[in-house]
Amino acid sequence: MDYSADVVIVGAGIGGLTAAALLQERGISTLTIEKNSYPGGSCASFRHKGYTFDAGASVFYGFGRDESSGTLNLHTRIFRKLGIDVPTIPDPVQIHFHMPGGFEVPVHYGREEFLGSLVGRFPGEERGIRAFYRELESVYDILSELPAGSLEDPVHVLKVGRRYPGKVMSLALKTLQSMGRTAKRNISDAELLKFIDMESYSWAVQDADATPLVNAGICLADRHHGGIHYPVGGAGAIPDALCEGIRRCGGSIRFGSGVEEILVRDGRAEGVRLAGGEVCRAKAVISNATIWDTFNTLVKDPRYAVAEEKFIRSPSWFQLYLGVDRKVVPEGFHVHHILVDDWERYREYGGTIYFSAPTILDPSLAPEGKHVVHAFVTDDVSRWNGCRRGSAEYRKAKEEFGASIIRRTETILPGLSDAVEVRLFATPLTHERYLNRYKGSYGPMLHPGQNILQKPQNCTAVRDLYMTGDSTFPGQGVIAVTYSGVSCASYLARKLGQPLDYL
Ligand SMILES: Cc1cc2nc3c(=O)[nH]c(=O)nc-3n(C[C@H](O)[C@H](O)[C@H](O)COP(=O)(O)OP(=O)(O)OC[C@H]3O[C@@H](n4cnc5c(N)ncnc54)[C@H](O)[C@@H]3O)c2cc1C
Repeated sequence: MDYSADVVIVGAGIGGLTAAALLQERGISTLTIEKNSYPGGSCASFRHKGYTFDAGASVFYGFGRDESSGTLNLHTRIFRKLGIDVPTIPDPVQIHFHMPGGFEVPVHYGREEFLGSLVGRFPGEERGIRAFYRELESVYDILSELPAGSLEDPVHVLKVGRRYPGKVMSLALKTLQSMGRTAKRNISDAELLKFIDMESYSWAVQDADATPLVNAGICLADRHHGGIHYPVGGAGAIPDALCEGIRRCGGSIRFGSGVEEILVRDGRAEGVRLAGGEVCRAKAVISNATIWDTFNTLVKDPRYAVAEEKFIRSPSWFQLYLGVDRKVVPEGFHVHHILVDDWERYREYGGTIYFSAPTILDPSLAPEGKHVVHAFVTDDVSRWNGCRRGSAEYRKAKEEFGASIIRRTETILPGLSDAVEVRLFATPLTHERYLNRYKGSYGPMLHPGQNILQKPQNCTAVRDLYMTGDSTFPGQGVIAVTYSGVSCASYLARKLGQPLDYL
């Protein structure tokens, strides 16, 4: 068979690029095919009128030093392996939460400082607060010692099981627990439990009951160890560096090329067909598209279709990319904020405002005297389905909704409406189009009560077709998706006879 590469990767999101980089570094040839003219998907940056905006992600884990975050500093380890320097700026506050009734919590890098601010407001809950966050630390203590690998690879599972039997057993038990139930065992104050829901909602877009404790143990503990770092030049510096690594090791990446079909014969993937009809054959295919796009669009055989209801389809987003006068952002303002103005509405579309001003850390993202502001709220494609791109009606609806979010944000940044000089609004339709994601969704989430291990792993029902990205274990978020890329590459490299060394 004439192969275009050993492995073809559909999509240059963080999941696909991570898998491609690690395979290519091991000498397994890769061809990555990306529909957009740039890499990164939800972790891309784009330029507009002199500003650099993050398309989606802007809170980054995984850049800690080895001694500060154990094995969870996957970006540090991957870029060291690829020999690429990705300069980052440490962010002293993960997120500053603003909640009803003047309840505010800046989540400081210093764990004691953070816990102290919670205990200051809920002195009667001190024991419970400490016990709950200690539980998260215990998950972190386990995970930060285990090397990253594939849970589908018996060699890896046996190796880790033999070396760390107690930790593996304890982790297995913790996969049965939810973050919310653990919180409620320790804490009874309703307002504090709402904050814990927000802690979970901030990245999982689900309340704490629906969020596995193990996921929480990574996001809500490593922020006090490895910490939060912002890549100089914006989110796009991460996919750019992965692309550089792939190319330096001899891999190919093709932009502006959409995959129309994953070719499957006799239950086995044998390559892809591009929009123009070109066929690229490979020993294996990795899809970085969502599980719904992969099995309901790219794989044409309906026997492999995945029902939408198999998972919860998480919402999409309405996003605001603003260039603002620097004076509106006061001295000492934190970079990332979450604003809830009504507890009854925080889970409704538009109910919670996410807000970042990354120029506080990296002024090079905006012209002199200006700041970048990136704000977003959950939304659903069905609210915009009747709108025609470019129509006056669509523009008006976007302007009105965008202006209402800017006004609500004025509770933390007075004068924001008047300070906006450049603005772009993106709806779920924009998301669907630029991120090539089913209904612009943030991805599939588990139903409450499902075990985190029920999230799809990298192997699929089609032989030689693998998945990586936020549809797979462990889920949404750049560091989670990086893990999924590592585990996918580890599995496949062993199968192709060239196993990866641990990072
Ligand atoms: C608004 C927003 C804010 C976020 N904030 C954070 C944050 O602060 N911190 C954090 O850690 N995470 C954050 N996330 C989540 C994080 O960005 C994502 O979970 C992660 O980047 C997803 O990576 P991925 O590799 O799974 O897929 P994607 O980023 O979706 O990339 C998939 C790529 O595949 C390409 N593709 C799809 N289909 C095809 C095809 N048929 N042919 C060719 N190419 C194709 C797409 O164009 C895309 O480039 C945020 C996400 C959003 C949307």
